[in-house]
Amino acid sequence: PVGGETFRFQAEAAQILDLMAHSLYSNKEIFLRELISNASDAIDRLRIERFSRPETVADEPEDAPGIRVAFDKDAGTITISDNGIGMSRQEVIDNIGTIARSGTGEFLRAMSGDQRADTALIGQFGVGFYAAFIVADRVVLTTRRAGLGPDAGVRWSSDGKGEYTLAAVERAERGTTIVLHLRDGEDDLLNEHRLRTIVQRYSDHISLPIAIGDDDAPVNRASALWARPRSELAESDYHEYYRHLTGDYADPLAYLHAKVEGRYEYTLLLFVPSQAPFDLWIPQATHGVKLHVQRVFILEDTGQLMPRHLRFVRGIIDSSDLPLNVSREILQGSRAVEHIRSSAVRKVLALLKDMAKDDPEKYAVFWKQFGAVLKEGVADDPAHREDLAELLRFTSTRSATQDADVSLADYVARMKDGQDKIYYLLAPNPSAAASSPHLEAFRAKDIEVLLLGDAVDNFVVTGLPPEYRGKRLQSVAQGAPDFGALEDATEKEAAEKAGSDYADLIGRLKEHLAGRAWDVRVTSRLTTSPACVVANEADTDFTLARRMRGTGLP
Ligand code: ADP
Ligand code: MG
Repeated sequence: PVGGETFRFQAEAAQILDLMAHSLYSNKEIFLRELISNASDAIDRLRIERFSRPETVADEPEDAPGIRVAFDKDAGTITISDNGIGMSRQEVIDNIGTIARSGTGEFLRAMSGDQRADTALIGQFGVGFYAAFIVADRVVLTTRRAGLGPDAGVRWSSDGKGEYTLAAVERAERGTTIVLHLRDGEDDLLNEHRLRTIVQRYSDHISLPIAIGDDDAPVNRASALWARPRSELAESDYHEYYRHLTGDYADPLAYLHAKVEGRYEYTLLLFVPSQAPFDLWIPQATHGVKLHVQRVFILEDTGQLMPRHLRFVRGIIDSSDLPLNVSREILQGSRAVEHIRSSAVRKVLALLKDMAKDDPEKYAVFWKQFGAVLKEGVADDPAHREDLAELLRFTSTRSATQDADVSLADYVARMKDGQDKIYYLLAPNPSAAASSPHLEAFRAKDIEVLLLGDAVDNFVVTGLPPEYRGKRLQSVAQGAPDFGALEDATEKEAAEKAGSDYADLIGRLKEHLAGRAWDVRVTSRLTTSPACVVANEADTDFTLARRMRGTGLP
């Protein structure tokens, strides 16, 4: 285009453009999915703006929201347009030009070379717009922000090689039009049937009408999947929707779809992914559930609808009781939200419990990916700690591998006759746990000990109820080893005799360690190590105390 100002892409953007063009070619059709998804987001954002800041968009016509995909055989172009919120000049620079967004670098690092997997990354990392360059060697985007006058139009244009130009243009209608000048050899896309197939494959669940060519009839179903009755939906529909929602390329491990009626009316469509996202541990990351009010997308949950320890759950919560202009502040004090949240939590925990029971292998996958997150709930959510206790998995001295596959129920079921405690060992890491001298006596007596070598396990031991099915939880690194009824009389005698035999040595050690050790005792807890340090009965377990200091807790 003539005129306008030239800008350079930020370095990483140029790299991404290059990757798009060269590495994702075998999945080239996804360019349309990404551009349609942006169009749909833009329409959602306009709808939200109409409620939240009506004065800014009062002059915009109330035309029916929609997306159109057109093509021109002679010009070799595909055009995607929407009547969404559009962008101002600055927004174009910020959103399309610089990619000064956090996901970009992560995206480049995460690229694996496997095209199928890498295609999925596009959606996850928010670099979808650039997928246009998979099939186009020039992209021209013309847009006008809702609420700004017709002379606030902006034209962005780039060949994806490192630079883009910006020009001011007249544009009567708000929204965005993207023209893709297809590369040589992409003519197969200039075909109504082909485009229709792509839209139906990737964008059927967009809840806005998508028209193709001059035909106004939408080619997609344009209705929210979760609003349809369960009986009409097959597992494959849910899986496909999940992939659309999350950008994940794998199927979810499990899902639940529930329409609840009564005092509050709402629909839950919740998924448990099969793989943790790259930012599961980034505190401010938001991608859990999307709140809708009467099928209109309102906002991404930031902890009001799903607690932190279920932040891996993805999906939709659609309420009929909240106002359309609901804000995060309103959510915080809302009774409806409180009700929905607790019902969603209960249902997710039940889903996991069923998975653990019916498909332990699947549950093992879940636990590997999200177990550490779920553990946080034991401390954070006392109301559900009994349910959470059932879901926990540990390694133990009986485990053949490093996989955490022992439940408390398994442990209790195989306790030795006369054993009345659940023994555990907290250690800084799994290998330190396995080689700890505290275990020697337990090994000798063939008593199973749970090995807690995960940084979040301190939450688990402090948060769990003191007893599980009537059995007290006992750290093996605390106090005199208390085997209860498992101690036999000859051992007791031997220990007492050793105590008197070594009274002299112990006296000298006590003197030497005065002020540094509470006590020095002869112990029967060791079989090969000469000595070990244990915490006093009344004190906090050492590892726990060390971790708590590390976290700044008292
Ligand atoms: P993401 O959609 O994950 O944010 P994209 O690369 O797909 O990442 O899009 C980048 C940004 O560009 C969007 O967040 C949005 O702000 C803006 N954008 C893209 N397409 C449109 C559009 N059709 N209308 C308005 N804004 C758009
Ligand atoms: Mg996008």
